[in-house]
Amino acid sequence: MIEFRQVYKRYPTGQLALYNVNLTIHAGEMLFITGNSGAGKSTLLKLIALLETPSKGNVLVGNMPLTHLNPRQIPSYRRKIGFIFQDPHLLYDRNVFDNVALPLLISGMPLPDIKRRVNAALDKVGLGRKTKSFPLMLSAGERQRVGIARAVVNRPTIILADEPTGNLDPELAQDIMYTFAQFNDLGATVLIASHDHGLVERMKKRTVVLQRVEL
Ligand code: ADP
Ligand code: ADP
Repeated sequence: MIEFRQVYKRYPTGQLALYNVNLTIHAGEMLFITGNSGAGKSTLLKLIALLETPSKGNVLVGNMPLTHLNPRQIPSYRRKIGFIFQDPHLLYDRNVFDNVALPLLISGMPLPDIKRRVNAALDKVGLGRKTKSFPLMLSAGERQRVGIARAVVNRPTIILADEPTGNLDPELAQDIMYTFAQFNDLGATVLIASHDHGLVERMKKRTVVLQRVEL
């Protein structure tokens, strides 16, 4: 469902981040991308999310080369993707419910549907009882769960997570990985970039190792 064909990425600074990447990710797969800092993990995820474009080669999603999407198709493509960052960047003056509801409010969904969706997403990440809490009242692990709920509330078919456990203790990190595995069991294709080799190994999923390009 996601295919990289001879993909190169060179940033305008001249820095080469990806060199001839060929990779097929199947629908419904959970895949880890590992490699040292600077190996290009983030860049690979950003190419799928259309946050960057390849310098050469093609990224295809559902057999569609992303470069062929016309501008009108891009918003609906983006809605298929949930992106989770190392830092969830929550709005600190809004409670958990409102943080998660934000993408749905923007899409103009009716309020009763929003409530149902948001509560369902928060239940899935284990925060069903914290809907009224404010981010500062939560632990780092709980804040990251809010970020995950917000990313999946649109029911994306693809979930991309960039070092989602980078700020967490090992035990919390493990829980977060299980949360992703649970969305994968529900059918989402999940890609997680992480440099935590021990954690990745314990999940027993296919793992792609990127090497830093020295060119
Ligand atoms: P990782 O996620 O594995 O740490 P990145 O994809 O962030 O790797 O980075 C790969 C390489 O590209 C690194 O050398 C990094 O410095 C460089 N890089 C990443 N983003 C940019 C950017 N916006 N501009 C210039 N160089 C970048
Ligand atoms: P609903 O159909 O009311 O949204 P579900 O229990 O089917 O309730 O799903 C609850 C929430 O879990 C969804 O709103 C979504 O956030 C998340 N979810 C469910 N299935 C998936 C999936 N395949 N991929 C991503 N997120 C999902």
